[in-house]
Amino acid sequence: MYKNNLTKDSFENKILDDLNKISKTISIYDDEEIVKNYSSDWRGRLNNIALCVVFPNSSLEVSRILKYCNEKKISIIPQGGNTGLVYATSPIENYKEIIINLKNLNNIIRIDKINKLVEVESGVIIDKLIDYVHSHNFLFPLLMTSTGSSQVGGSIATNAGGMNVIKYGSTRQNILALEVVLADGEIIDVGSNVIKDNSGYSLKDLFCGSEGTLGIITKATMKIYPLPTCELSCLISVQNIKNVINLHNELQQKFNENIDRCELIPEIAFDLCKKHKFIDNHFFKNSQKYYLLVNFKSFEKISDFKDRVQNHLVSLTNLYDDIIFPHNQSQAQKFWKFRENITEAQKLDGKVIPFDISVPLDKLDSFFKDSLLQLNNILPNIKINSFGHIGDSNIHFNLIEPENLAEDFFNFEIVISNVLYDLVDKYSGSISAEHGIGALKKQELSKYKSKSELDLMIKIKKIFDTNNILNRGKLFEL
Ligand SMILES: Cc1cc2nc3c(=O)[nH]c(=O)nc-3n(C[C@H](O)[C@H](O)[C@H](O)COP(=O)(O)OP(=O)(O)OC[C@H]3O[C@@H](n4cnc5c(N)ncnc54)[C@H](O)[C@@H]3O)c2cc1C
Repeated sequence: MYKNNLTKDSFENKILDDLNKISKTISIYDDEEIVKNYSSDWRGRLNNIALCVVFPNSSLEVSRILKYCNEKKISIIPQGGNTGLVYATSPIENYKEIIINLKNLNNIIRIDKINKLVEVESGVIIDKLIDYVHSHNFLFPLLMTSTGSSQVGGSIATNAGGMNVIKYGSTRQNILALEVVLADGEIIDVGSNVIKDNSGYSLKDLFCGSEGTLGIITKATMKIYPLPTCELSCLISVQNIKNVINLHNELQQKFNENIDRCELIPEIAFDLCKKHKFIDNHFFKNSQKYYLLVNFKSFEKISDFKDRVQNHLVSLTNLYDDIIFPHNQSQAQKFWKFRENITEAQKLDGKVIPFDISVPLDKLDSFFKDSLLQLNNILPNIKINSFGHIGDSNIHFNLIEPENLAEDFFNFEIVISNVLYDLVDKYSGSISAEHGIGALKKQELSKYKSKSELDLMIKIKKIFDTNNILNRGKLFEL
């Protein structure tokens, strides 16, 4: 390979020289402290350091960089806000890869209110897009706690989900068209500006969720929605998971179009948030095993809509214990803030082994029972904090170290993962509901995907990226 012919310094200097010649406006950093910062992941974990990090300002500059890297067979890592959770933006080797960070491609190009779409460059931060679309009285649907940093391109490349997938679908359902730079530098447009388009293979869907392994997304045309005029939340305490699922189904039968978020919260989340001072008191007088935090949106008058929801819930009292409708918007926000803080509270409580899984709703009860049994056999008193997007069967199944554990909790990670993923497989779920595969779960991908599906994925990768320069070592062991 190119690098082997040169010493590290001369190799590095040659590449930096060449990159500088590509365009005078591209910022290139090789200062170790800066490169370390971009090479470590959101949790601050650092395995290897990239050769340098570059910040192109246009699709054309991205194209020139890729053309150069492809010719020299230099690996590149596309990077957005670096909020991904599966080591997909971290180098797999030291001083060999170039991080291409898209943050300077940050223009919102146009909003089209008639066709309900917005066209943006891929480095636009999601919160900026949400605010912009909102200021035009429309809604951009992606809702997750990382939207202050995550970018449009990163969210497309991971097919980000979040809290309101039940109403608006995941990112994939909201892309109309993409501009993508391929490994050899060619800039292509895929998709169109219309919702109905059955003209051949949907290549935009292939780039969505590809985690930077097929091309660099530089522009996107995304759907937007009319802004609902009323919003209502409620928090419901429920005895067991069967009732949680039945209640969720009953609510969907009646209010399908209106429910945009439906989150499962276990009692342990209240204990953690109280212990670590995110809330002062429990919201309910009597605690229960589970809680459902539901958010509705509608175009009705709020008083009429609230009456409808309350009347229906009265007919379902056999399924729940108690219910709180917030007095005002600030109490509603307090409930949602509590939901957001669960992750932070568990982090303060001890070491955490997280699982981002989905299990079909009708099998969730058996999955919970089986996993409790098997995990207790490995580590009695392990704390299970299973919360999240129950509306679309995606559970953040997080395990917190037991009190006074003599051994390092992370020593149990492999054995626990094997047990958990086998159970997910047994119940026909997914080992990665929304965070993707990256370098973290590639072994699991090869274990749980059928050989024929995996082989086809690798063939596709090789068609798009003959020299294997795009995010090498992510998704597959290539
Ligand atoms: C606190 C927190 C909460 C989160 N909640 C959720 C959640 O609810 N739902 C969810 O789905 N995810 C969630 N995530 C994960 C993460 O935020 C999302 O996956 C996010 O969309 C990634 O965007 P990013 O810009 O940070 O991408 P990065 O982390 O920078 O990159 C992610 C992947 O996309 C690739 N990539 C980035 N930009 C491009 C591009 N322009 N072209 C091609 N490939 C590119 C990278 O190579 C990498 O493989 C959460 C993360 C955090 C830290």
